[in-house]
Amino acid sequence: MTNKHLNRREFVKRSGHLTTVGLFTPSFMNFNINNLSQSKRGDSLQTSTEFVSGGGSVTVIESDPVTLRLKPHNQSDGGWSQVWWYFKLDGMIPGEEVVIQLEKGNPPISGISPKANFTYDQVNWGLTNTGKPEIIDGQEFFVYKHVVKNSEVWFAYDLPYTPEIMDTLLFSKASGDKEVDVFELCKTTKSRSVKALHFDGADKGSGKYGIWLQARCHAFESGSSWVLHHLADWLLSNDSKAMALRKEATITVVPIVDIDSVVEGRTGKMQQPYDHNRGWDENPGHWPEVTSIKKSIKKLVKKDRADMFIDFHGPGGESHPYFIVPVSEHLTGEKQRQNRAKFFEVLNAKPLTDELSKTQSMTQICYSARTTEVNKGNSASWVIMNSTDHMVGLTLEVNMNTPLSTMEGYRSEAIVLGQAIADYFVGGHHQK
Ligand SMILES: [Zn+2]
Repeated sequence: MTNKHLNRREFVKRSGHLTTVGLFTPSFMNFNINNLSQSKRGDSLQTSTEFVSGGGSVTVIESDPVTLRLKPHNQSDGGWSQVWWYFKLDGMIPGEEVVIQLEKGNPPISGISPKANFTYDQVNWGLTNTGKPEIIDGQEFFVYKHVVKNSEVWFAYDLPYTPEIMDTLLFSKASGDKEVDVFELCKTTKSRSVKALHFDGADKGSGKYGIWLQARCHAFESGSSWVLHHLADWLLSNDSKAMALRKEATITVVPIVDIDSVVEGRTGKMQQPYDHNRGWDENPGHWPEVTSIKKSIKKLVKKDRADMFIDFHGPGGESHPYFIVPVSEHLTGEKQRQNRAKFFEVLNAKPLTDELSKTQSMTQICYSARTTEVNKGNSASWVIMNSTDHMVGLTLEVNMNTPLSTMEGYRSEAIVLGQAIADYFVGGHHQK
């Protein structure tokens, strides 16, 4: 996290107080810094990542036109370990254009968003115009240009999803529901609390299924938390399918697994010794989060409530959401094969062909079956191999970074998935 400040016309460094405001204010809340921005507007520019989930490094290299140079947070060695960025720019004149030069770097970064996300209040977000690749002084960049309508503005790789959003918009709602517990799954190595929701209506009725849903083994995949958030929010609603599913199945929802990387604004993927979606077959494992999840799944197995597991990832491609799954021959038996096929049928999931990849949606969920997916030590593989002979174990790539990947888009994806899970279990399609 960095805080950089530049005198607008003379490039003289000045001290600022925005760092402290950012540090002690929940990242999603609007805070009143009118006096500060009024006095700064037009005479200084400041960039900062000193707030929850702020990440990457950003430098003001020119003030007229305002030009920033940006590097995503590098977790290990470029590629998919160097993706996440989220920063604040202050001191703009409304109506002025900012040029953001995203360094492609060497080794090159992966996962460049065609459009950046921007906000003036960390609540309502929009997408910039599509950026363009450019060579500047012999170096490769991806350049966004955006005319701002406020003196302070935040830009991010994708819609940020922070622990504060989870607490305020989801857990506070859940705490009013008698059949839902908010509980601490574990503490991280840095003593942060990993929280989860448990829908236990089936324990009180005649339900017999158990479902485990989790997101954000990879911290930069914020869209995966948003889809799971909206799915949980739908489960909390009075939608008849959501209510019917809650009678049939206990459901555990972990919206943020690697909370340390999320809070610290890191990419998370490919961190050492392995990231949160690797090393699931290690015993003892490295991450308390993974150890606790494995223990919880084993408890579900004992109660014969280990029926479905979905690990939400992203960014997917610029087409449709899709499950990455092992080919059916690699599942442990006939019931796993039949259950997965039936669930895909109920969901109307289609194989992600080259032809289908040319089209785009948030609601046509697809699947991509691969011979390499089992025994890779990832979450879904471990669950398939170590739970029940009827488990439906899946990795979902929610599709981030498309023009449709907005709050409404993530919600529509969540509801299509939630309704299919309800139709599958409540419709009696799942074989034990
Ligand atoms: Zn991932």
